[in-house]
Amino acid sequence: MSKTTWIKTIEVLSGKKLDATINIRGWIYRTRSSGNIVFMTIRDITGVLQATVKKGNLPDNEFEDAKKALIESSIELKGTIKEDKRAPGGYELQVTNIHVVNFAEPFPIVKDQSPEFLLDQRHLWIRSRKLASILKIRSTLVGAIHQFFRERGFYEFDAPILQPSQCEGGSTLFEVKYYNDKTYLSQSWQLYAEAGIFSLEKIYNMGPTFRAEKSKTSRHLSEFWMAEMEAAWMDLYDIVEIGKDEIRFILKQVLKNNKNELELLNQDYNKLKQISESDFPTITYTEALKILNEKENMNIKWGKDLRTLEENKLADHFKTPVVVTHYPVEIMAFYKPRDKKDPKTALCFDMIAPEGYGEIIGGSQRSLDIKDMTERLEAMGEKVENYEWYFDLRKFGSVPHAGYGLGVERTVAWICGIDNIKDTIPFPRTLLRFRP
Ligand code: ATP
Ligand code: MG
Repeated sequence: MSKTTWIKTIEVLSGKKLDATINIRGWIYRTRSSGNIVFMTIRDITGVLQATVKKGNLPDNEFEDAKKALIESSIELKGTIKEDKRAPGGYELQVTNIHVVNFAEPFPIVKDQSPEFLLDQRHLWIRSRKLASILKIRSTLVGAIHQFFRERGFYEFDAPILQPSQCEGGSTLFEVKYYNDKTYLSQSWQLYAEAGIFSLEKIYNMGPTFRAEKSKTSRHLSEFWMAEMEAAWMDLYDIVEIGKDEIRFILKQVLKNNKNELELLNQDYNKLKQISESDFPTITYTEALKILNEKENMNIKWGKDLRTLEENKLADHFKTPVVVTHYPVEIMAFYKPRDKKDPKTALCFDMIAPEGYGEIIGGSQRSLDIKDMTERLEAMGEKVENYEWYFDLRKFGSVPHAGYGLGVERTVAWICGIDNIKDTIPFPRTLLRFRP
């Protein structure tokens, strides 16, 4: 194949190379013909370019192909670059050769279709400029998370996806037939990570996570990606600071690499930049209730979990993400330890994103108290013998340790400023959908 030019680089090239002949390839994004001229917009991964196909400038059969080709046809073009102030990017291609690689059938997606229809057509919709922009930002974020932990001496550590027991409550487990037995899809990497720290001390992972969320919300997927960390010798306060640093690092990477995508999504670059340079506040659950009850006129009893509504009201009081620590121990998972200074609270935290994007990180110090964990598991009706291996970790050189999980999709949704978490993952799985 002949050497092709990325559309985005044409702007850079053009200053020097106006009138130069170039080849591009991509897909027809828009097309319109009138008489002896076809105006096309071509997209590739880097951008869109206007191309003008005039009868007489190219072989007749190629001109006929250009007229026939519908949107989403794949195409190779050769032509000269001319300045055109009205064209997107400021340049247009005057076409001298065209090769339609595949004539597309009429594309099912047209303007203003319902979200459900677009989800049915997801295999085609992910090529839209909106979704491609979000997916590029997601890719930056995933790369940033690996870079963040590796630069700080964390090792990547993998846990099984098929697990014999729950970590985050039995009600959201997905059951899987396992030969003649049954097992579950991972709700978290954490319990295995707690074994991993005795081998590698500081570890992280980003992997698929499965929770059978029974309610429909714009924040919950049944299959999502969680970026988790776990470290020996760290306490709650250490990991809170790591979590804040991680978010700032992700933001800086996105700002550096995805200016165009943020613009396409109408996201405010400067707002994110400011957050990436800010300190994030830390408050306790009790202080959060004070804000909600005194400033928002709510009436939340101590001991109740913060739901979406409360998280959103709380977030209204902050311009940056806010960390909330010391939730009531009664509503927390069995492995979150009591704070000895205030035993009705747990050494745990959530980080809540601004503007109603909700909890993006959840984490805690880990309990070292086998008796307390046993009682809490029994109270939930769990088979304690399934956790014997986990309790072993408290018997052979146990150390204080802590960790957290960051929801990749929620963080992408917040950074992109989009309403629904479904658009942050190529093929979302929810209560009502696992196709295509
Ligand atoms: P929530 O209360 O919102 O259901 P959670 O307390 O169950 O969250 P954790 O178990 O602490 O969440 O998981 C860590 C992170 O994973 C959360 O902060 C969130 O960003 C993300 N997360 C949890 N459940 C989901 C889900 N169903 N879909 C997408 N992301 C999720
Ligand atoms: Mg949950």
